[in-house]
Amino acid sequence: MTTSPIPFFNYPALFLQDEEKLVEIFRDVGRRGAYILQRDVAEFEDALKEFLSVKHAVAVSDATNALILGLRALEVKAGDEIILPSHTFIASASAIYFAGAKPVLCDIGPDNLMDPESVLSRITSNTKAIMPVQLNGRVCNMDKLQEIASAHQLHIVEDSAQALGAKFKEQGAGTFGSFGVFSFYPAKSLGCLGDGGALVTNDDEIAHRVKMYRDHGRAPDGNVVAWGTNSRLDNLQAAILNHKIKTFRDEIVRRRAIASQYHNMLVNVKELKLPPQPSDGPHFDTFQNYEMAAENRDALKHYLKEKGIGTAIQWGGMPLHHFKELVCDSVLLPATEKFFKECIMLPMNTALSNDQVTRVCEAVRRFYQ
Ligand SMILES: *Cc1c(COP(=O)(O)O)cnc(C)c1O
Repeated sequence: MTTSPIPFFNYPALFLQDEEKLVEIFRDVGRRGAYILQRDVAEFEDALKEFLSVKHAVAVSDATNALILGLRALEVKAGDEIILPSHTFIASASAIYFAGAKPVLCDIGPDNLMDPESVLSRITSNTKAIMPVQLNGRVCNMDKLQEIASAHQLHIVEDSAQALGAKFKEQGAGTFGSFGVFSFYPAKSLGCLGDGGALVTNDDEIAHRVKMYRDHGRAPDGNVVAWGTNSRLDNLQAAILNHKIKTFRDEIVRRRAIASQYHNMLVNVKELKLPPQPSDGPHFDTFQNYEMAAENRDALKHYLKEKGIGTAIQWGGMPLHHFKELVCDSVLLPATEKFFKECIMLPMNTALSNDQVTRVCEAVRRFYQ
């Protein structure tokens, strides 16, 4: 039996799995001298549009900037409130802050995603938008959230950074609201070799504005017509993403197969609460992460570490309401609070072999025996 370590995420594999092709891409881009906003960016935007059947895709430096620029395009202003779940990355809230609005936190429901009941309790006359976070490659129940948004005339802005390819009732993450964003950070399911992101929208005006904002406020003719910044996706990263998006559907298939294997081997461990297994129901999940609730979580994490198995606790164990100095909100969020005492993520990436997944499951089972 092999005992080589199983890292939570294998960063070198991202390159080594595909080394020859990636070097070929570097060489091609370098020889063309095509570094900033060249044809590879436009081609990637077209590929992403097609992948999602959406009208516009704007490639930007990262998902955080995609959120900031998208919110600016909605003309978010001081005093506006945007509701988001506390179970998300600090970037979701910091984007709201840097767009000039106020992040307002809500709780998670039994699916560990934004809870519609909690959203309702947090709506005020200043609420401008709600930001569902499509965590772990699973889309919220968007029927309920869309109902709330239309009843209260709120924008939906999706932090779908973790959910490219995930669907709810056949509709893709990122396409439900005014805009959605994606991250191509290396550990994300479609990861490049650095930072990368995109905003998608069916709204011509939002797309037009974000294209200007990402490039110093320049209109297509080169004239500066708005306050912009530099949030461009590197052309080299775009060339890499163009290559990787071609096989992305296969990556999703593999992630779902790993999730099924985890499910089958761990479903009888009564101390665990697993995520739903991949199914043909309304949710098509892409398993950016395999996040579960585990009794005695810290001891399990320590045990697996001793066996050479990497795990992670999302956001370093810090939901947004724990950042007391940053997100000034005294709301009680009992479901988030409870989940963060138990949540843990097992390795989930396409560098894993079936044998490695089996070893992880066997170690988890041994811990609880
Ligand atoms: C990764 C992530 C982000 C930030 O993405 P970057 O591309 O690193 O800026 C935002 N929100 C969520 C939920 C994420 O997982």
